Amino acid sequence: MESGKGALLIHHGQLVDGTGAAPVPDGAVVVRDGRIRYAGPRKGAPPTEPDVPQVDARGGTIMPGLIEAHFHATYFNVAELADLDMKYPVEYVTLLAASNAKLALECGYTAARSGGCLHNIDVWLRKAIDSGLCPGPRLAVSGREICGAGGLMDWNPEYWKLGMEGLILLVNGPVEARAAVRKLVKDGAEWVKIYPTGDAASPSADHRALCMTAEEIEAAIREAHNYRLKVMGHCRASEGIKMSLRAGMDTLEHATFMDSEALDLLLSRDTPVVPALHFEHASVVRGKEFKLPSWCIDGHKETLEAGAESARMILKAGGRLGMGGDYGFAWNPHGDYARELSFFVDTVGFSTLETIKCATKTGAEIMGREKEIGTLAEGKLADILVVDGDVVKDIKVLEDRSRFIAVLQGGIVKAGRLAGKGG
Ligand SMILES: [Zn+2]
Repeated sequence: MESGKGALLIHHGQLVDGTGAAPVPDGAVVVRDGRIRYAGPRKGAPPTEPDVPQVDARGGTIMPGLIEAHFHATYFNVAELADLDMKYPVEYVTLLAASNAKLALECGYTAARSGGCLHNIDVWLRKAIDSGLCPGPRLAVSGREICGAGGLMDWNPEYWKLGMEGLILLVNGPVEARAAVRKLVKDGAEWVKIYPTGDAASPSADHRALCMTAEEIEAAIREAHNYRLKVMGHCRASEGIKMSLRAGMDTLEHATFMDSEALDLLLSRDTPVVPALHFEHASVVRGKEFKLPSWCIDGHKETLEAGAESARMILKAGGRLGMGGDYGFAWNPHGDYARELSFFVDTVGFSTLETIKCATKTGAEIMGREKEIGTLAEGKLADILVVDGDVVKDIKVLEDRSRFIAVLQGGIVKAGRLAGKGG
């Protein structure tokens, strides 16, 4: 990805650095050649040339670009799970994915980790973004997802004789789990998304069910690690969480039904968790409107409450959490990403600064790019969000793109009011 040339001064706004530290009331960031050269109180900033381009953040907030830790570029706001795999051909889904990536950047998300996608689209989307063909977050990519046959993602009934094609590699046994990972390795994935457990969205493989055996999980993780790929697991049932942690899972998605044994395992390994609660919340609140059956809405209610409780437990115990809302469903569409943050503040009970830290610093750690992005610190890439409003007082400001003065990636203004106006 291209970096900006020359210097840029962003000043006069409150500075939130992403570490969870108290905001600096009158802050400044000096950017040079795409990287942060200074971030701190305006009074301590090194002098810049008088003609240096400036961004006035008066009355607003200067903060790191947001990181969506569970992004599905190819989930095109589907009304039913089955639409994910079959409704459109790969050509059209690719265009939809590019459009979702652009939207995410406009929403202040300068980086994102894929939580699985159709075919190998995110791998090529990343290439297009990195080479400046289309705008989008810096991506950590995962390609297709892996699930045990008959599990959550194997939704086409046998009598259709269809199988699955684009989204899921279905496996029976550790040999097939290993073979599936090898396909992803070859295709250029950085992450492997697997489904140790089910979800309230499935009538058979529900949120109490396991979708993979311990042997399949271990085989997938061992093979991925052999090729230096990381593994994330859709984990709701306690037993699935524990099997995943024991096998060395790199991040847990959801971690819904945590118990004390699971928490001990999690903390001893310092494994990050991405609860992705807004999907549950939207399924509960808007489920009826989108004709979700009542057993499904009831299930989502259960996983929402348990997931929120687990997130609080993990935060209190000193564990790491990332923010990602599983967007891409009709009732939880792309563009609503920052609602996950508001939900954590308003309903789960996180402080604004804790939530922002999860959405920036921890997001970067999950992506393995904490040396480059995630906080406003000297030497890091200038992925910065300048917002018109006090984000610490009202996190909902982040839901409103019209309040973004600038969304910068590598010191270049890519979106926000100043986009296309230089600077
Ligand atoms: Zn997901």
